[in-house]
Amino acid sequence: MSWRDVRCGEPRADDVGRKLTVAGWAARRRDHGGLVFVDLRDHTGLVQLVVNPERSPVAAELAKEIRNEFVLRAAGEVVARSPETVNPKMPTGEVELHVDELEIVSRSTPLPFQLEEENVDEVLRLRYRWLDLRRESMQQNLRLRATVVSTIRASMEEQGFIDVWTPGLTLGTPEGARDFLVPVRLQPGTFFALAQSPQLFKQALMIGGFDRYYQIATCWRDEDLRADRQFEFRQLDLELAFAEREDVLEVLEKVVVASFESVGKKPPERPFPRLSYADAMLRYGSDKPDLRFGLEIQDGTEVTRGSEFGVFAGAPTVRFLVVPQELSRGDLAKLETFAKEWGAKGLAYLVRGSEGEVRSPIAKFLSASEIDALAAPPGSTALFVADELPVVERVLGALRLHLGRELGLVDDTRDALHWILDFPLFQRDEDSGRWTFVHHPFTGALEGHEELIERDPANALSQHYDLIWNGWELGSGSIRIHRSDVQQQIFRAMGMTEEESNAKFGWFLNALQMGAPPHGGFALGLDRFVALLAGEPNIREVTAFPKVASGSDPLTGAPASAPTEALDELGIRVVEQAP
Ligand code: ASP
Repeated sequence: MSWRDVRCGEPRADDVGRKLTVAGWAARRRDHGGLVFVDLRDHTGLVQLVVNPERSPVAAELAKEIRNEFVLRAAGEVVARSPETVNPKMPTGEVELHVDELEIVSRSTPLPFQLEEENVDEVLRLRYRWLDLRRESMQQNLRLRATVVSTIRASMEEQGFIDVWTPGLTLGTPEGARDFLVPVRLQPGTFFALAQSPQLFKQALMIGGFDRYYQIATCWRDEDLRADRQFEFRQLDLELAFAEREDVLEVLEKVVVASFESVGKKPPERPFPRLSYADAMLRYGSDKPDLRFGLEIQDGTEVTRGSEFGVFAGAPTVRFLVVPQELSRGDLAKLETFAKEWGAKGLAYLVRGSEGEVRSPIAKFLSASEIDALAAPPGSTALFVADELPVVERVLGALRLHLGRELGLVDDTRDALHWILDFPLFQRDEDSGRWTFVHHPFTGALEGHEELIERDPANALSQHYDLIWNGWELGSGSIRIHRSDVQQQIFRAMGMTEEESNAKFGWFLNALQMGAPPHGGFALGLDRFVALLAGEPNIREVTAFPKVASGSDPLTGAPASAPTEALDELGIRVVEQAP
């Protein structure tokens, strides 16, 4: 016995007259006074079964029991539908299967939701994920994901990379998140950290003579969950030895273009545009700008240095956006509220009417030359933020995105992929006030910036680069430090003593002293990449079994407390948390 001869979505007019067996799930049953119609479904589509008591009384009797999501097997004859019953919306709509034999293979209890229902509560969907996965969108998304993964592998292998597996259980790797700790029964009181990334292992592979490594790596980071973040995620992780930045970018661009093509999407043109971090912050107020629209930020700091308008003259930075519309007072008030939510003290404006006249409460404080330099062309509005640089960047960056969406400036039909280069090496850690890495501490300085590492960390630029798609960060990478002394300098600049750096990274510093080739790499966040390729706003839609925002899994109920014996073996005592 074979379960099926064809898939449900396959029968066509050519098959008329054939005897076929199909198997799948009952998507819908309609009773037409004796005749029973069942839409039988699998991932390829639906086929209509017709159970006629005259043709098969046994099958007709059994068909009365069918409910949605029962698994059926039916054997019968493919028959052409009469012209008025042809369904042009279904690929199998010209035919139906007249059933001779019917088997209920598996039954279903009443369903918590119907598969075609929209807006089903997400927790419910995840609790009954096996049902949810039968829906067309989940079928498409996970299949698209598999296509992308196999394309990535093919592209990487064609480019000479080999797949090497690296451990999940390791020491903490500094990627800027908390580690998940795993207690070790054989050595009570000790813990593995789940790898936040294979960073040091892939660098060790370079030192070990594998010059092109890749892996679809699972990474674990204990961070708050969001639409684009899960505790565990997968990334295309790669590293190249004897490589320059351009070599790494080229590898990634090829992978991205091949992935677009594999899912039938028009690929972006290569080379992808490159923008420096400084430029991105100045023009877009963001290190991951959405370049599907213009609305660039402009700088008014120089022009306002001698201004009589104290708010401008006294602010370290004055920048503005020119909106191609005369905004009303109501609009301006709303935008000011928005700007304040992002930390601005206020939002000054100059509206230039269609005749060239300027309407603004601050106009009287500004000279004619200032107005000329700052006010926009007729029929537009300039919006100003005057403050410390980071505030100005943050507020105008957010305002630009907000206006881009509100005013319909974003061209949704475009895909803007680009690189951001030359990030700073360090940033201040807000809690400790110490310098900390922007990317990770293994990132090399930009050529000529090595001597700034300890002398002037604020101004040291790095060889770190990010790949951005429509304002989403797809991934990051860098050319690494391959000298132990430079690596030590970085640790010192971050305020680590030699003992500390040796305790944490001694093995790696040692490795760097035994013939480390120059190298660099990248990690592309696979979940986000696939979500964007699938046009899904949320990575949970492209993940088979994701967790919800609270960090739990509605399907299995994980995480759960552990049995006392297991904890005893591990030498762990649980302290009750105050509610
Ligand atoms: N390890 C980095 C990350 O996971 C990527 C890299 O620098 O290659 O983000």
